[in-house]
Amino acid sequence: MPHNDLLSQFQNINTWKSKGIRAPHKPLLMLLALGEIQRGNTGFIPYASIEPKLKELLLDFGPQRKTLYPNFPFTKLANDNLWQFNRPELLDTKQDYSSNFLLKNDLQGKFPDEITQQLKQDPELLRSVVETILEQNFPETLHQDILDAVGIDLTIDPLNSSNMRQARKRDPLFRESILKAYEYRCAVCGFGVRLKHKILALEAAHIMWHQAGGPDVEVNGLALCATHHKLFDLGAFTVNADLKMLVSDEINGLGATEWLLQHHGKSIQPPQKKAFYPNPEYTAWHVHEVFKGGYRDI
Ligand SMILES: [Zn+2]
Repeated sequence: MPHNDLLSQFQNINTWKSKGIRAPHKPLLMLLALGEIQRGNTGFIPYASIEPKLKELLLDFGPQRKTLYPNFPFTKLANDNLWQFNRPELLDTKQDYSSNFLLKNDLQGKFPDEITQQLKQDPELLRSVVETILEQNFPETLHQDILDAVGIDLTIDPLNSSNMRQARKRDPLFRESILKAYEYRCAVCGFGVRLKHKILALEAAHIMWHQAGGPDVEVNGLALCATHHKLFDLGAFTVNADLKMLVSDEINGLGATEWLLQHHGKSIQPPQKKAFYPNPEYTAWHVHEVFKGGYRDI
């Protein structure tokens, strides 16, 4: 199978429900399986070893849901022609199967043989597939954390210069318009340090992720320092329709007060024009799809 065909097969998996509702189950399962291939394990992976890892990934990087359903992608990925089973006769992939059923029957899965071989023989292709999955489903602030969690190393061999990673396509206008709207300060802590004239560690965050269809406009952005940007994308805090910063009740540990709790319940520093105020539709998306835990008292 030519490279581009294989890449587009991964690209075409629909991992978003309507209106930007997140369903990162298949992407996270695929990343787990790609990690196995990168480590040289090309055989079937037992569901029993996938389930605890996938649960943890869904907890850490998925939206907060009452039930995690790590069993769903394990069978459904076969409908995208990207998964096969050790005992296919036991499964009808149009159906859902419980974790118990998958465990009791020792079901195991992996990418189809042809795809596994191609990914194993071509590390650059594997890298492109991994990057595609990350870019389609998660903001860049989370990419390295997810790679670490699934054990994928995207470091390039410096001796092989043809493998240079493509520069990411970012819209520099979005960054500039957001930083200007917030007068070059973090909307939470006011951070705005410069080295001579150069702005340091200040970033333009999407409220509704670009991956979820969030547009590159002021009303969908916040200027945040690098730390607050990451904490925001991980769901440690959110910003509500009244521009109040609300911290998760799951937050604890050293630095929690300085970085988060002292700002809890307070208004963020608003943008310089009313026309730039975050759109409630986007802040509501962040509350439902990214924010973790419950609210604390204000
Ligand atoms: Zn900050």
